[in-house]
Amino acid sequence: MDNSQAALPRVFLQAGRDRRVALGHPWAYSNEITIDADAKALPPGSLATLHRVDGKPLGLGTFNPHTLIAFRLLSRDASATIDRAFLANRITRALNLRQTLFDAPFYRVVHAEGDGLPGLICDRLDGVLVAQINTAGMQALTDDLLAALDDALAPHTVVLRNDSPARASEGLSGSVTIAKGQIDDAIMVREGGCCFFADVLAGQKTGWFFDQRDARDIIAPLSAGGSLLDVFCHTGGFAVRAAAAGAHSVVGVDSSEPALHLARRAAAANGVEHLCAFRRADAFTELERLARSKERFRIVVADPPAFVKSRKDLASGLRGYRKLARLAAPLVAPQGFLFIASCSHNVEPDALLSEIVHGISSAARSGRIIHEGRAAPDHPVHTHLPETSYLKWAILQLD
Ligand code: SAH
Repeated sequence: MDNSQAALPRVFLQAGRDRRVALGHPWAYSNEITIDADAKALPPGSLATLHRVDGKPLGLGTFNPHTLIAFRLLSRDASATIDRAFLANRITRALNLRQTLFDAPFYRVVHAEGDGLPGLICDRLDGVLVAQINTAGMQALTDDLLAALDDALAPHTVVLRNDSPARASEGLSGSVTIAKGQIDDAIMVREGGCCFFADVLAGQKTGWFFDQRDARDIIAPLSAGGSLLDVFCHTGGFAVRAAAAGAHSVVGVDSSEPALHLARRAAAANGVEHLCAFRRADAFTELERLARSKERFRIVVADPPAFVKSRKDLASGLRGYRKLARLAAPLVAPQGFLFIASCSHNVEPDALLSEIVHGISSAARSGRIIHEGRAAPDHPVHTHLPETSYLKWAILQLD
């Protein structure tokens, strides 16, 4: 793509609106930008330079006049060239961090703004990359991006999971395509000495939740010698790691039969299928049923999908976490553990904890908080975008 400086359109911030960007924030909102006829006419996702009202350049990035987060900076150097080499450089920097953090090639290798690549998520399952493009800006760079992924990672297969709901707000339609190689089966993922299977074409999100690695590292040894219930078990991450770490029995519940199929396959591949039972049910209904049957577990894990999809459902979503804690707490044996996570962007960690505490209190249980955590470090957070740190979780021991 030709984006020599002279060819790039210029986008202007309104008077007095440059301070946040100048201090390091990577976004400018549409109501801070002068959206005149020229700006409005730019194709969504155009490369552009961003300027103060007096013309001083603040950087270079992508611009979409039709969305709230209208300008996303790629570089503070307005004369930078955004091309295959630029993208490969950013990807390599992100890769180097993962290689420092992990000893095997299974991780989120690019986490959007956290890695200086707004609008791009990319998971690495050894030679298979599962990328998700969420902005018109990154979409416009797709060809250079695919070449850059080749340069930095030499994958044999690349899947574009461009089916996230976030794309609609950027005016993008959804699709899943194989940009390189082929996919004949679920893809193997290694974590914590176990292997798992990810459906990278049709599974939830990218097929595997790397974000819960740290939580699984803590839960697995806690379950040794005890029992574990995982009520949104997906492909068996918590459940199979617990069984492999010495849990004497594990029950996984999920509403998705394809996810359960992969969980059973993971249990078998790790030689723990005799310890694991996976069944399809609604998590809330199953928690109530198990409580009536007086079953108790050393650990109950609940890692549901986002209950709060936007600010307007914050109150009802928070009630969902409270209800989950209230229904899960009775199933935790005395001195056992309750793990609850929220992947809702709009839920603050303290708010989640407060709902969990209310929930266990309504179930007439008391206890103590022993761990609070966030997404694993292959999900780095841009220093000026703390709100993009979506995942939070807590583990409580109950009396
Ligand atoms: N903890 C998992 C990820 C959970 S993702 C891991 O570490 O891999 C959320 C899961 O909740 C999905 O698998 C989805 O199928 C399931 N789910 C959504 N609604 C549900 C419901 N009402 N009851 C049970 N499972 C549900």
